[in-house]
Amino acid sequence: MSLIVQKFGGSSVRDAQRIRNVAGIIAETYLEGNDVIVVLSAQGDTTDDLIAKAEEINPHASKREMDMLLSTGEQISVALCAMALEGMGLPCVSLAAWQVGIRSTGVHSDARIKRIDHERIQAELDQHRIVIVTGFQGVDRSGDVTTLGRGGSDTSAVALAAAFRAELCQIYTDVDGVYTTDPRIVPNARKLDEITYDEMLELASQGAQVLHNRSVELAKKFRVSLEVVSSLERKPGTKVKEVTKVEKTNIAGVAKDTSIARIALIGLQHNPGVAFQVFDLLSKHDINVDVILQSIGREDTKDITFTVHKKDLEEAEEILNTNKEALRFHHIEADEHIGKVSIVGAGLMSNCGVAAKMFEALYEAGINIQMINTSEIRVSVLLDEEDVNRAVKAIHAKFFDEI
Ligand code: ADP
Ligand code: ASP
Ligand code: MG
Repeated sequence: MSLIVQKFGGSSVRDAQRIRNVAGIIAETYLEGNDVIVVLSAQGDTTDDLIAKAEEINPHASKREMDMLLSTGEQISVALCAMALEGMGLPCVSLAAWQVGIRSTGVHSDARIKRIDHERIQAELDQHRIVIVTGFQGVDRSGDVTTLGRGGSDTSAVALAAAFRAELCQIYTDVDGVYTTDPRIVPNARKLDEITYDEMLELASQGAQVLHNRSVELAKKFRVSLEVVSSLERKPGTKVKEVTKVEKTNIAGVAKDTSIARIALIGLQHNPGVAFQVFDLLSKHDINVDVILQSIGREDTKDITFTVHKKDLEEAEEILNTNKEALRFHHIEADEHIGKVSIVGAGLMSNCGVAAKMFEALYEAGINIQMINTSEIRVSVLLDEEDVNRAVKAIHAKFFDEI
Protein backbone atom coordinates (compact mmCIF):
# COMPACT_ATOMS: atom_id res chain seq x y z
CA MET A 1 0.00 0.00 0.00
CA SER A 2 1.34 3.46 -0.89
CA LEU A 3 0.61 6.87 0.48
CA ILE A 4 -0.34 9.43 -2.13
CA VAL A 5 -0.89 13.16 -1.57
CA GLN A 6 -3.30 14.78 -4.02
CA LYS A 7 -3.75 18.55 -4.14
CA PHE A 8 -6.58 20.20 -6.05
CA GLY A 9 -6.47 23.91 -6.89
CA GLY A 10 -9.26 26.47 -6.84
CA SER A 11 -10.57 25.89 -10.35
CA SER A 12 -10.66 22.13 -9.73
CA VAL A 13 -13.10 22.56 -6.81
CA ARG A 14 -14.93 25.58 -8.25
CA ASP A 15 -18.50 24.22 -7.92
CA ALA A 16 -20.50 21.15 -6.90
CA GLN A 17 -19.84 19.38 -10.18
CA ARG A 18 -16.07 19.94 -9.94
CA ILE A 19 -16.07 18.77 -6.32
CA ARG A 20 -17.81 15.56 -7.39
CA ASN A 21 -15.21 15.16 -10.13
CA VAL A 22 -12.41 15.59 -7.57
CA ALA A 23 -14.11 13.13 -5.19
CA GLY A 24 -14.13 10.64 -8.09
CA ILE A 25 -10.36 10.96 -8.59
CA ILE A 26 -9.72 10.61 -4.85
CA ALA A 27 -12.09 7.61 -4.59
CA GLU A 28 -10.33 5.83 -7.44
CA THR A 29 -6.92 6.28 -5.80
CA TYR A 30 -8.26 5.11 -2.44
CA LEU A 31 -10.09 2.10 -3.89
CA GLU A 32 -6.88 1.00 -5.63
CA GLY A 33 -5.65 0.38 -2.09
CA ASN A 34 -3.68 3.54 -1.37
CA ASP A 35 -3.66 5.77 1.67
CA VAL A 36 -4.68 9.22 0.53
CA ILE A 37 -4.06 12.66 1.98
CA VAL A 38 -5.93 15.34 0.05
CA VAL A 39 -5.09 19.05 0.14
CA LEU A 40 -7.59 21.56 -1.19
CA SER A 41 -7.56 25.24 -2.14
CA ALA A 42 -10.49 27.60 -1.73
CA GLN A 43 -13.15 27.30 -4.42
CA GLY A 44 -12.69 29.35 -7.61
CA ASP A 45 -12.21 33.03 -6.84
CA THR A 46 -13.11 32.71 -3.15
CA THR A 47 -9.79 34.07 -1.88
CA ASP A 48 -10.01 37.14 -4.15
CA ASP A 49 -13.65 37.65 -3.10
CA LEU A 50 -12.69 37.51 0.57
CA ILE A 51 -9.92 40.07 -0.01
CA ALA A 52 -12.48 42.34 -1.71
CA LYS A 53 -14.85 41.95 1.25
CA ALA A 54 -12.07 42.94 3.65
CA GLU A 55 -11.23 46.00 1.56
CA GLU A 56 -14.84 47.15 1.76
CA ILE A 57 -14.62 47.14 5.55
CA ASN A 58 -11.03 48.27 6.11
CA PRO A 59 -8.38 48.55 3.39
CA HIS A 60 -5.70 48.60 6.08
CA ALA A 61 -6.84 45.53 7.98
CA SER A 62 -4.10 43.78 9.95
CA LYS A 63 -2.46 40.74 8.40
CA ARG A 64 -3.60 38.64 11.35
CA GLU A 65 -7.25 39.38 10.68
CA MET A 66 -6.73 38.89 6.94
CA ASP A 67 -5.40 35.41 7.67
CA MET A 68 -8.36 34.70 9.92
CA LEU A 69 -10.64 35.62 7.02
CA LEU A 70 -8.75 34.03 4.10
CA SER A 71 -8.28 30.70 5.86
CA THR A 72 -12.05 30.17 5.81
CA GLY A 73 -12.01 29.62 2.02
CA GLU A 74 -10.09 26.36 2.29
CA GLN A 75 -12.25 25.21 5.20
CA ILE A 76 -15.34 25.36 2.99
CA SER A 77 -13.66 23.25 0.30
CA VAL A 78 -12.51 20.46 2.61
CA ALA A 79 -15.91 20.13 4.30
CA LEU A 80 -17.73 20.01 0.95
CA CYS A 81 -15.31 17.46 -0.48
CA ALA A 82 -15.68 15.28 2.63
CA MET A 83 -19.45 15.46 2.18
CA ALA A 84 -19.10 14.31 -1.43
CA LEU A 85 -16.94 11.35 -0.38
CA GLU A 86 -19.34 10.52 2.46
CA GLY A 87 -22.11 10.50 -0.13
CA MET A 88 -20.13 7.87 -2.03
CA GLY A 89 -19.92 5.78 1.13
CA LEU A 90 -16.19 6.33 1.62
CA PRO A 91 -14.61 6.87 5.04
CA CYS A 92 -13.04 10.32 5.28
CA VAL A 93 -12.39 13.26 7.56
CA SER A 94 -11.76 16.92 6.80
CA LEU A 95 -9.22 18.76 8.95
CA ALA A 96 -8.15 22.39 9.19
CA ALA A 97 -4.39 22.99 9.45
CA TRP A 98 -4.66 23.82 13.16
CA GLN A 99 -6.37 20.48 13.82
CA VAL A 100 -3.56 18.62 12.05
CA GLY A 101 -0.87 20.67 13.69
CA ILE A 102 0.74 22.25 10.61
CA ARG A 103 3.12 24.42 12.64
CA SER A 104 4.26 27.61 10.96
CA THR A 105 6.14 30.80 11.65
CA GLY A 106 4.00 33.73 12.81
CA VAL A 107 4.58 35.90 9.72
CA HIS A 108 0.95 36.51 8.78
CA SER A 109 0.18 36.31 5.05
CA ASP A 110 3.63 34.85 4.35
CA ALA A 111 4.19 32.15 6.96
CA ARG A 112 6.51 29.20 6.47
CA ILE A 113 5.76 25.66 7.58
CA LYS A 114 8.18 24.62 10.31
CA ARG A 115 6.91 21.11 11.06
CA ILE A 116 3.82 18.97 10.90
CA ASP A 117 2.50 16.92 13.82
CA HIS A 118 1.93 13.30 12.85
CA GLU A 119 -0.51 12.01 15.46
CA ARG A 120 -3.87 13.15 14.14
CA ILE A 121 -3.34 12.34 10.47
CA GLN A 122 -1.67 9.01 11.27
CA ALA A 123 -4.57 8.04 13.54
CA GLU A 124 -7.03 8.81 10.74
CA LEU A 125 -4.96 6.88 8.17
CA ASP A 126 -4.76 3.95 10.57
CA GLN A 127 -8.58 3.96 10.55
CA HIS A 128 -8.39 3.81 6.72
CA ARG A 129 -9.92 7.22 6.35
CA ILE A 130 -9.18 9.57 3.49
CA VAL A 131 -7.72 12.69 5.14
CA ILE A 132 -8.71 16.02 3.57
CA VAL A 133 -6.63 18.96 4.76
CA THR A 134 -7.00 22.70 4.20
CA GLY A 135 -4.17 24.03 2.04
CA PHE A 136 -2.53 27.46 2.32
CA GLN A 137 -2.49 27.69 6.09
CA GLY A 138 -0.76 26.84 9.32
CA VAL A 139 -0.90 27.61 13.01
CA ASP A 140 1.75 29.64 14.80
CA ARG A 141 3.22 29.33 18.29
CA SER A 142 0.41 31.33 19.85
CA GLY A 143 -2.24 29.17 18.20
CA ASP A 144 -3.16 31.80 15.61
CA VAL A 145 -4.04 30.82 12.07
CA THR A 146 -1.51 31.93 9.46
CA THR A 147 -1.49 31.75 5.66
CA LEU A 148 1.41 30.78 3.45
CA GLY A 149 1.15 33.35 0.64
CA ARG A 150 -0.97 33.22 -2.51
CA GLY A 151 -0.82 29.84 -4.18
CA GLY A 152 0.44 28.30 -0.92
CA SER A 153 -1.71 25.17 -1.06
CA ASP A 154 0.91 23.55 -3.29
CA THR A 155 3.37 24.02 -0.44
CA SER A 156 0.97 22.47 2.08
CA ALA A 157 0.71 19.42 -0.17
CA VAL A 158 4.45 18.98 -0.64
CA ALA A 159 5.10 19.55 3.08
CA LEU A 160 2.59 16.81 3.94
CA ALA A 161 4.12 14.51 1.32
CA ALA A 162 7.55 15.10 2.86
CA ALA A 163 6.36 14.70 6.45
CA PHE A 164 4.56 11.41 5.72
CA ARG A 165 7.11 10.18 3.18
CA ALA A 166 4.49 9.84 0.48
CA GLU A 167 5.27 7.85 -2.62
CA LEU A 168 3.94 10.65 -4.82
CA CYS A 169 2.58 14.18 -4.57
CA GLN A 170 0.18 15.06 -7.35
CA ILE A 171 -0.76 18.67 -8.01
CA TYR A 172 -4.06 18.64 -9.92
CA THR A 173 -4.84 21.87 -11.72
CA ASP A 174 -6.55 23.38 -14.76
CA VAL A 175 -3.62 22.76 -17.12
CA ASP A 176 -2.29 19.32 -17.93
CA GLY A 177 1.28 20.06 -16.91
CA VAL A 178 4.08 22.58 -16.90
CA TYR A 179 4.48 24.36 -20.23
CA THR A 180 7.33 26.29 -21.80
CA THR A 181 5.37 29.39 -20.80
CA ASP A 182 1.87 30.26 -19.59
CA PRO A 183 -0.40 28.67 -22.23
CA ARG A 184 -2.93 31.43 -21.58
CA ILE A 185 -0.49 33.95 -23.08
CA VAL A 186 1.12 31.74 -25.70
CA PRO A 187 -1.41 29.14 -26.89
CA ASN A 188 1.24 27.13 -28.76
CA ALA A 189 3.48 26.77 -25.68
CA ARG A 190 4.77 23.20 -25.35
CA LYS A 191 4.08 20.82 -22.53
CA LEU A 192 7.18 19.50 -20.78
CA ASP A 193 7.16 15.78 -19.88
CA GLU A 194 9.64 16.51 -17.13
CA ILE A 195 11.56 19.39 -15.60
CA THR A 196 14.28 19.59 -12.94
CA TYR A 197 13.55 20.93 -9.46
CA ASP A 198 16.04 23.74 -10.09
CA GLU A 199 14.44 24.88 -13.33
CA MET A 200 10.94 24.61 -11.87
CA LEU A 201 12.04 26.55 -8.79
CA GLU A 202 13.33 29.41 -10.93
CA LEU A 203 10.22 29.41 -13.15
CA ALA A 204 7.92 29.38 -10.09
CA SER A 205 9.96 32.07 -8.32
CA GLN A 206 9.80 34.23 -11.44
CA GLY A 207 6.02 34.09 -11.64
CA ALA A 208 4.96 30.81 -13.29
CA GLN A 209 2.04 30.36 -10.95
CA VAL A 210 1.47 26.72 -11.87
CA LEU A 211 3.47 25.79 -8.73
CA HIS A 212 4.13 27.81 -5.57
CA ASN A 213 7.89 28.36 -5.42
CA ARG A 214 8.26 27.12 -1.86
CA SER A 215 6.55 23.85 -2.80
CA VAL A 216 9.34 23.21 -5.29
CA GLU A 217 11.99 24.20 -2.75
CA LEU A 218 10.58 21.66 -0.28
CA ALA A 219 10.18 18.99 -2.95
CA LYS A 220 13.86 19.36 -3.85
CA LYS A 221 15.01 19.38 -0.24
CA PHE A 222 13.04 16.27 0.74
CA ARG A 223 13.21 14.52 -2.67
CA VAL A 224 9.43 14.43 -3.04
CA SER A 225 8.22 12.90 -6.31
CA LEU A 226 6.13 15.69 -7.68
CA GLU A 227 3.78 15.66 -10.63
CA VAL A 228 1.55 18.36 -12.17
CA VAL A 229 -1.58 16.88 -13.74
CA SER A 230 -4.96 17.98 -15.03
CA SER A 231 -8.03 17.41 -12.87
CA LEU A 232 -10.20 17.61 -15.98
CA GLU A 233 -8.52 15.33 -18.49
CA ARG A 234 -6.80 12.01 -17.99
CA LYS A 235 -3.41 12.32 -19.55
CA PRO A 236 0.17 12.24 -18.33
CA GLY A 237 1.31 15.48 -16.74
CA THR A 238 4.77 16.87 -15.99
CA LYS A 239 7.16 15.21 -13.56
CA VAL A 240 9.36 17.49 -11.47
CA LYS A 241 12.56 15.71 -10.50
CA GLU A 242 16.26 15.99 -9.73
CA VAL A 243 17.59 15.09 -13.18
CA THR A 244 15.75 14.85 -16.45
CA LYS A 245 16.52 12.60 -19.38
CA VAL A 246 16.16 15.32 -21.93
CA GLU A 247 19.43 16.78 -23.10
CA LYS A 248 19.43 20.52 -22.59
CA THR A 249 19.75 22.19 -25.92
CA ASN A 250 17.29 24.95 -25.24
CA ILE A 251 15.77 26.88 -22.36
CA ALA A 252 13.09 25.15 -20.26
CA GLY A 253 10.69 28.05 -20.25
CA VAL A 254 9.73 31.70 -20.02
CA ALA A 255 8.01 33.23 -16.97
CA LYS A 256 6.51 36.62 -16.21
CA ASP A 257 5.81 38.44 -12.99
CA THR A 258 3.68 41.57 -12.81
CA SER A 259 3.27 41.50 -9.04
CA ILE A 260 6.38 43.60 -8.44
CA ALA A 261 7.07 47.29 -7.94
CA ARG A 262 10.32 49.23 -8.19
CA ILE A 263 11.73 51.54 -5.57
CA ALA A 264 14.69 53.85 -6.22
CA LEU A 265 16.49 55.58 -3.34
CA ILE A 266 18.09 58.62 -4.91
CA GLY A 267 21.07 60.49 -3.50
CA LEU A 268 22.29 58.04 -0.85
CA GLN A 269 25.72 58.65 0.71
CA HIS A 270 28.51 56.85 -1.13
CA ASN A 271 29.84 55.23 2.05
CA PRO A 272 30.34 51.66 3.27
CA GLY A 273 27.31 50.20 5.09
CA VAL A 274 24.59 52.08 3.24
CA ALA A 275 23.20 49.05 1.37
CA PHE A 276 23.37 47.06 4.61
CA GLN A 277 21.35 49.71 6.47
CA VAL A 278 18.64 49.86 3.79
CA PHE A 279 18.14 46.13 3.32
CA ASP A 280 18.55 45.25 6.99
CA LEU A 281 15.76 47.69 7.79
CA LEU A 282 13.45 46.17 5.19
CA SER A 283 14.24 42.60 6.19
CA LYS A 284 13.44 43.42 9.83
CA HIS A 285 9.95 44.29 8.59
CA ASP A 286 9.71 41.01 6.61
CA ILE A 287 9.83 42.82 3.29
CA ASN A 288 11.47 40.71 0.62
CA VAL A 289 13.63 42.47 -1.92
CA ASP A 290 14.41 41.03 -5.32
CA VAL A 291 16.40 42.60 -8.18
CA ILE A 292 18.90 45.15 -6.80
CA LEU A 293 20.90 47.65 -8.81
CA GLN A 294 23.33 50.21 -7.40
CA SER A 295 24.43 53.07 -9.58
CA ILE A 296 28.07 54.04 -9.90
CA GLY A 297 28.74 56.62 -7.22
CA ARG A 298 29.24 60.18 -8.32
CA GLU A 299 29.82 63.36 -6.30
CA ASP A 300 29.70 61.34 -3.08
CA THR A 301 26.19 60.07 -3.70
CA LYS A 302 24.72 56.93 -5.24
CA ASP A 303 21.29 55.53 -6.05
CA ILE A 304 20.01 52.08 -5.12
CA THR A 305 17.11 50.64 -7.06
CA PHE A 306 15.32 47.41 -6.14
CA THR A 307 12.06 45.58 -6.52
CA VAL A 308 9.55 44.49 -3.88
CA HIS A 309 6.20 42.77 -4.07
CA LYS A 310 3.45 45.27 -5.02
CA LYS A 311 1.61 44.47 -1.79
CA ASP A 312 4.66 45.60 0.20
CA LEU A 313 5.27 48.84 -1.70
CA GLU A 314 3.31 51.18 0.54
CA GLU A 315 4.82 49.75 3.73
CA ALA A 316 8.35 49.80 2.29
CA GLU A 317 8.02 53.46 1.29
CA GLU A 318 6.66 54.32 4.71
CA ILE A 319 9.51 52.57 6.53
CA LEU A 320 12.15 54.19 4.33
CA ASN A 321 10.63 57.65 4.71
CA THR A 322 10.39 57.24 8.48
CA ASN A 323 14.11 56.49 8.50
CA LYS A 324 15.06 59.14 5.96
CA GLU A 325 17.34 60.98 8.35
CA ALA A 326 19.29 57.92 9.37
CA LEU A 327 19.59 56.61 5.81
CA ARG A 328 20.38 60.08 4.42
CA PHE A 329 18.89 59.82 0.94
CA HIS A 330 17.50 62.67 -1.12
CA HIS A 331 14.18 61.21 -2.25
CA ILE A 332 12.32 58.03 -3.21
CA GLU A 333 10.97 57.20 -6.64
CA ALA A 334 8.44 54.36 -6.84
CA ASP A 335 6.95 52.69 -9.90
CA GLU A 336 4.15 50.14 -9.73
CA HIS A 337 3.83 49.71 -13.47
CA ILE A 338 6.70 47.39 -14.10
CA GLY A 339 7.01 43.67 -14.73
CA LYS A 340 9.69 41.06 -15.05
CA VAL A 341 10.21 38.46 -17.77
CA SER A 342 12.67 35.61 -17.26
CA ILE A 343 14.10 32.74 -19.23
CA VAL A 344 15.18 29.63 -17.34
CA GLY A 345 17.31 26.71 -18.40
CA ALA A 346 20.01 24.48 -16.91
CA GLY A 347 23.34 25.33 -18.43
CA LEU A 348 22.09 28.71 -19.60
CA MET A 349 24.99 30.68 -18.19
CA SER A 350 27.57 28.47 -19.85
CA ASN A 351 26.10 29.54 -23.18
CA CYS A 352 26.29 33.33 -23.45
CA GLY A 353 24.46 33.27 -26.79
CA VAL A 354 21.24 32.51 -24.93
CA ALA A 355 21.05 35.87 -23.17
CA ALA A 356 21.92 37.64 -26.42
CA LYS A 357 19.07 35.79 -28.15
CA MET A 358 16.65 36.99 -25.47
CA PHE A 359 17.80 40.61 -25.85
CA GLU A 360 17.54 40.28 -29.62
CA ALA A 361 13.91 39.18 -29.33
CA LEU A 362 13.18 42.24 -27.17
CA TYR A 363 15.03 44.55 -29.55
CA GLU A 364 13.07 43.20 -32.52
CA ALA A 365 9.84 43.80 -30.63
CA GLY A 366 10.95 47.35 -29.81
CA ILE A 367 10.84 46.72 -26.06
CA ASN A 368 13.07 48.69 -23.73
CA ILE A 369 14.88 46.91 -20.86
CA GLN A 370 15.08 48.75 -17.53
CA MET A 371 17.16 46.35 -15.45
CA ILE A 372 18.82 42.96 -16.01
CA ASN A 373 19.43 40.30 -13.43
CA THR A 374 20.86 36.79 -13.77
CA SER A 375 21.42 33.56 -11.86
CA GLU A 376 23.25 30.45 -13.02
CA ILE A 377 20.18 29.16 -14.80
CA ARG A 378 18.15 32.33 -15.39
CA VAL A 379 18.16 35.72 -17.10
CA SER A 380 15.52 38.24 -16.01
CA VAL A 381 14.68 41.64 -17.45
CA LEU A 382 12.60 44.40 -15.91
CA LEU A 383 10.20 46.10 -18.31
CA ASP A 384 7.21 48.40 -18.46
CA GLU A 385 4.21 46.42 -17.27
CA GLU A 386 2.41 47.02 -20.54
CA ASP A 387 5.22 45.35 -22.52
CA VAL A 388 5.27 42.16 -20.47
CA ASN A 389 2.92 39.90 -22.47
CA ARG A 390 4.38 41.05 -25.76
CA ALA A 391 7.86 40.31 -24.42
CA VAL A 392 6.84 36.79 -23.33
CA LYS A 393 5.42 36.09 -26.81
CA ALA A 394 8.47 37.49 -28.62
CA ILE A 395 10.99 35.63 -26.44
CA HIS A 396 9.02 32.39 -26.55
CA ALA A 397 8.78 32.58 -30.34
CA LYS A 398 12.51 33.26 -30.62
CA PHE A 399 13.45 30.18 -28.61
CA PHE A 400 10.73 27.74 -29.54
CA ASP A 401 9.46 28.65 -33.00
CA GLU A 402 12.75 29.39 -34.77
CA ILE A 403 14.92 26.48 -35.76
P1 ADP B 1 -4.59 26.18 -9.13
O1 ADP B 1 -5.80 26.97 -8.86
O2 ADP B 1 -4.89 24.78 -9.59
O3 ADP B 1 -3.57 26.23 -8.06
P2 ADP B 1 -3.13 28.16 -10.66
O4 ADP B 1 -4.01 29.15 -11.32
O5 ADP B 1 -2.44 28.55 -9.41
O6 ADP B 1 -3.96 26.82 -10.46
O7 ADP B 1 -2.01 27.63 -11.68
C1 ADP B 1 -2.37 27.14 -12.94
C2 ADP B 1 -2.21 28.24 -13.98
O8 ADP B 1 -0.83 28.58 -14.07
C3 ADP B 1 -2.57 27.83 -15.38
O9 ADP B 1 -3.94 28.00 -15.64
C4 ADP B 1 -1.68 28.73 -16.24
O10 ADP B 1 -2.41 29.82 -16.79
C5 ADP B 1 -0.65 29.29 -15.27
N1 ADP B 1 0.73 29.11 -15.72
C6 ADP B 1 1.68 30.06 -15.67
N2 ADP B 1 2.83 29.61 -16.17
C7 ADP B 1 2.63 28.31 -16.55
C8 ADP B 1 3.46 27.31 -17.13
N3 ADP B 1 4.75 27.52 -17.41
N4 ADP B 1 2.91 26.09 -17.35
C9 ADP B 1 1.62 25.85 -17.05
N5 ADP B 1 0.79 26.77 -16.50
C10 ADP B 1 1.28 27.99 -16.24
N1 ASP C 1 -6.59 29.97 -1.96
C1 ASP C 1 -5.25 30.50 -1.94
C2 ASP C 1 -5.03 31.44 -3.11
O1 ASP C 1 -5.95 31.69 -3.88
C3 ASP C 1 -4.21 29.43 -1.90
C4 ASP C 1 -4.13 28.52 -3.09
O2 ASP C 1 -5.06 28.46 -3.89
O3 ASP C 1 -3.13 27.81 -3.20
O4 ASP C 1 -3.98 31.97 -3.25
MG1 MG D 1 -2.02 27.59 -7.57
